[in-house]
Amino acid sequence: MELDFDNKVIVGEQLLKMRSLGNFVREAVLDIRDLDITEVLYNEVPADFRVSNTKPKIGQSLRIAIPFQFAGDEFEILVKYKTHPGATGLSWLDKSQTSGKKMDYLFTHCETIHCRSIAPFQDTPMVKSTFKAQIISPQNMIVRATGNLTEEFDYNNFRSTKFESKIPIPSYLFGIVAGDLQESELGEKVKVITERALMREAQSSLSILEPALTILEEYLSNYVWGDYKIVIQPPSFPFGGMENPLLSFASYTKIQGDASSVDDTIHEIAHSWAGNLVTPDNWNEVWLKEALATFLERKAIKSINGESAYKDKAMRGMISMQDKIIEVGADSELTKLTPNPSKVEDPDHILTPIQSEKGFGLLALMEELVGEALFKDFLIEYFDTYKFKHADSKQFEDLFVNFIYRVFDHKT
Ligand SMILES: [Zn+2]
Repeated sequence: MELDFDNKVIVGEQLLKMRSLGNFVREAVLDIRDLDITEVLYNEVPADFRVSNTKPKIGQSLRIAIPFQFAGDEFEILVKYKTHPGATGLSWLDKSQTSGKKMDYLFTHCETIHCRSIAPFQDTPMVKSTFKAQIISPQNMIVRATGNLTEEFDYNNFRSTKFESKIPIPSYLFGIVAGDLQESELGEKVKVITERALMREAQSSLSILEPALTILEEYLSNYVWGDYKIVIQPPSFPFGGMENPLLSFASYTKIQGDASSVDDTIHEIAHSWAGNLVTPDNWNEVWLKEALATFLERKAIKSINGESAYKDKAMRGMISMQDKIIEVGADSELTKLTPNPSKVEDPDHILTPIQSEKGFGLLALMEELVGEALFKDFLIEYFDTYKFKHADSKQFEDLFVNFIYRVFDHKT
């Protein structure tokens, strides 16, 4: 991928290694949104392709003709493309919009289905893949992306930065940040990345992250991703946070506010298990990651700051859910724990406090019914059973019922 700051576009080549799941497959279909597709190759040979009509809020399908495939057949698709200057997943900031005012800046935001505006993907949470990426930027710019940094070198007036993720991730967790960045250690496992101008403030505000990570590791299981890296974004970053593995994003406001807003960054750590390790099948199952991350975040807060901080968080969450229900209407599809996707116009609309807080209430009730120790054992089993894969509400429920039968049968 080449980052072209002058034209606010990415010029990219996406090589996908695919395997046919059925017989007589003769088309590969990828999600895109306003990508300019210049060429498509099937196993290094030019392939016919067409782009479907635009579906509002969804984008287009890139339909690639391929020779008949049978179940298990493997093949490669290479797509050469350019993004649109208005790509919904890319935010290009002029230097005047940054804190340091020295260099242009780029950050991505793929959740929910914006990754398709950055590159062609099967852009749905249940499709997870390992990947390698090479990003070309202006020479003096630091680029970081989801995955482990494997190589960084300068040539002519450019810089090449390479990344690799050996753990499969869904497309919504892919992230890039580029600018006048610095990286600094916050503890043994936690690092912060931010503009040079914000580094001192970030370092002094985020001391809670290392103990929070340790608490969650002790509660669940080892953190598998390597270092935990959090990016404190410039003040113009419009989101609270985003849990890209090895590259969580958090708003500058999170380090400016009171202790409670800094606590919100623990939520992104909790996603290292809830969502990033075990991913919901689809966006209507988003509670499986948001409510679990909220539940785990509050476990850590209770352990660090005590019962009253935990209750305060839960109360604030409840109020934000009630406000949202009033906003969307009590009989709106969006008030359901798992909304029907065909009744939701835009998956972004499901990202509300309703699913997080309804789900949190359900998890808290389950914990109350079986006791803290048993519920912890259940969550450990859930993350162990579905790690590196995806799950839906039915699988979560079945595993819980099965767990309870096993535990209580054993005792009688
Ligand atoms: Zn979240």
